[in-house]
Amino acid sequence: AVMAAVALALRRRGMRFRWRIWASAGGVRGAAGGAAGQQDYDLLVIGGGSGGLACAKEAAQLGRKVAVVDYVEPSPRGTRWGLGGTCVNVGCIPKKLMHYAALLGHMIQDAHHYGWEVGQPILHDWEKMAEAVQNHVKSLNWGHRVQLQDRKVKYFNIKASFVNQHTVRGITKGGKEMLLSAEHIVIATGGRPKYPTHIEGALEYGITSDDIFWLKKSPGKTLVVGASYVALECAGFLTGIGLDITVMMRSIPLRGFDQQMSSLVTEHMESHGTRFLRGCIPSRIRKLPDGQLQVTWEDGISGKEDMGTFDTVLWAIGRVPETRCLNLEKAGVNINPKNQKIVVDSQEATSIPHIYAIGDVAEGRPELTPTAIMAGRLLAQRLFGQSSDLMDYDNVPTTVFTPLEYGCVGLSEEEAVARHGQEHVEVYHAYYKPLEFTVAERDASQCYIKMVCLREPPQLVLGLHFLGPNAGEVTQGFALGIKCGASYAQVMRTVGIHPTCSEEVVKLRISKRSGLDPTVTGCG
Ligand code: FAD
Ligand code: NDP
Repeated sequence: AVMAAVALALRRRGMRFRWRIWASAGGVRGAAGGAAGQQDYDLLVIGGGSGGLACAKEAAQLGRKVAVVDYVEPSPRGTRWGLGGTCVNVGCIPKKLMHYAALLGHMIQDAHHYGWEVGQPILHDWEKMAEAVQNHVKSLNWGHRVQLQDRKVKYFNIKASFVNQHTVRGITKGGKEMLLSAEHIVIATGGRPKYPTHIEGALEYGITSDDIFWLKKSPGKTLVVGASYVALECAGFLTGIGLDITVMMRSIPLRGFDQQMSSLVTEHMESHGTRFLRGCIPSRIRKLPDGQLQVTWEDGISGKEDMGTFDTVLWAIGRVPETRCLNLEKAGVNINPKNQKIVVDSQEATSIPHIYAIGDVAEGRPELTPTAIMAGRLLAQRLFGQSSDLMDYDNVPTTVFTPLEYGCVGLSEEEAVARHGQEHVEVYHAYYKPLEFTVAERDASQCYIKMVCLREPPQLVLGLHFLGPNAGEVTQGFALGIKCGASYAQVMRTVGIHPTCSEEVVKLRISKRSGLDPTVTGCG
């Protein structure tokens, strides 16, 4: 009765009432939870990665009381990291830095053409690179903690699971439990790399992208299994720093991307030393007495069994959403049983209206950092900022950071044809030679651009595909144009910046339909 009176008095004075108890059984620190309006926080975010942190910071900026809980379960190999999620720790950031390390090696090779005296042989030191990258990542972990503190977002390093629709139980590394309640809950728990089931030695001897960036020693001769973003990017930078790399792919490269571009990506990688085993599936990994890994695989084309030895096997066969430990059924949040992702609507709401899911854990969303961040920010603005802006997942640009980068936005040629019909699609394309490649005598066979448009004037641009240096930088700008509904006619009226690779986009005059040679020579 006393507590109820205090609560009433506080509420009359516009203050939120929090009722904390120490549960006698088990020492669980608890909150009243349950009924809306009596929660610890206005917003509780589960997952301190790209989407979760963005959402929490935005909500705090809008004056709300916010908590973020984040917990990193070590990889099966024991790798662990700090606050910031996949992108910061085991994704975009260390990947791009290692990709850059590989590009630098290539540039050192070019340098002597430009007059630099470079000592031979050019050697790469994994330990030095890894330490520098890891130190940068650790500085980002720290930066995220400081930002949360500055914005008065409460951070808990606990593993969360639902108790009911408004309450979450958190367990610390040391096994202590606490309860947190909130009016709105955002699930942003991302995903983790998949391990194959039923392959002897896969879990015991294989590693994933959760480990590769944190290895203290060079992975050496590596087998990369898979053929999508993670596989090709990792294989690309590992080859680039001078390692012996084989990619084992069971079907096609970069499923979902434009397949002509994808073939050029792997063609370029092959010509720069990455080996490809096509149509192959691993069946067994054994450790030999000398420590090497003996991998057995089935060659789907010849039907025969084959074998090879490697120092490292890297599984890059996709990711599993982190929904298994959340006790979602306690809150009534629905998942798609086929892929374990959380089913959401256009508001990012789950089957429970005040529980939301954003980023990699949500069904049907691109697994990309900028989409998770924007979705998180917009959600906070809708919840607390009187906004009604929804996240638009159309025309999201992306880049695959393979040695020759592939940037794209909009539809692939295949998708455009499937949606509009061959007769209604016009594809403009060109092979080009970046100026910097000429003096360095670099092969530019795979530097290629194509713009997929509607055939009907003014020829709305449906998709842009760019394969070449700095593809991410090039694609970002054009993505704005395409988002604004640019037509081929408008792109052709855009003045180029000379001499750049980007200007090749505004010079795309040859259509595939014309059958003319798309090889561009010199300053045209
Ligand atoms: P995450 O960033 O994964 O964050 C989820 C957080 O929640 C994690 O810290 C996790 O430990 C925590 N968590 C999970 N369960 C719980 C729980 N029960 N309690 C508390 N905390 C929990 N995207 C790009 O845009 N560009 C790139 O170049 C790029 N490169 C990538 C390279 C690699 C190798 C990988 C694997 C991914 C890459 N991505 C890239 C994808 C990008 O990293 C993800 O899309 C992005 O991190 C997703 O953000 P998120 O907020 O959904 O989840
Ligand atoms: P994907 O799910 O995109 O690809 C998985 C790959 O592994 C496919 O090539 C698939 O082949 C193959 N595969 C699946 N199962 C097996 C198996 N059992 N044996 C052999 N091969 C198998 O996963 P990724 O991990 O590459 O990427 C996840 C997401 O992360 C991406 O969708 C992307 O959004 C994001 N990401 C973004 C990056 C960027 O922006 N630059 C970089 C890296 C990741 P098949 O096609 O035959 O199914």
